[in-house]
Amino acid sequence: MAKPMHELSITQSLVDAVLDRTGTLAVLGVHVRVGRLSGVLPDAMRFCFEVISDGTPLAGAQLLIDEPQGVTRCRSCGQDATMEDLIPLCPCGSADVEIISGRELMLTSVEVA
Ligand SMILES: [Zn+2]
Repeated sequence: MAKPMHELSITQSLVDAVLDRTGTLAVLGVHVRVGRLSGVLPDAMRFCFEVISDGTPLAGAQLLIDEPQGVTRCRSCGQDATMEDLIPLCPCGSADVEIISGRELMLTSVEVA
C-alpha cells in the first residue's frame, strides 16, 4: 500500500514548478510523464492537481499524463523487455536486469493561452 498522500507533495512541487515558469499566464494544459514504476498513481495526481491548482492561474488547466511502461534490459542476454508487472524478470529467465524506462517523473511541457 502506497503512502496515500505521496501524490499531494509531488503534485504541489509540479504546480510550483509550472507557476515559476508561467507566472500569471493562463495555462491550458500541463504535460507530465509518470512512469508506471514511479510509484505515483495518475488518478490521485489528477485529483491533487485540481485541488492544488484551484485559485491559481493553473485552475482549469488539463493535466495530461503520459504513462510509459516499464522496460528492462537483461545483463545476461542483452534483450529489452516490457515489464508486465512490477517484477523485473527477463523472458530468458534471468533476474539480472536493469530498468531502463518506467521510472520517469517529469514535467514535459506546458501550454499557455
Ligand atoms: Zn535475458
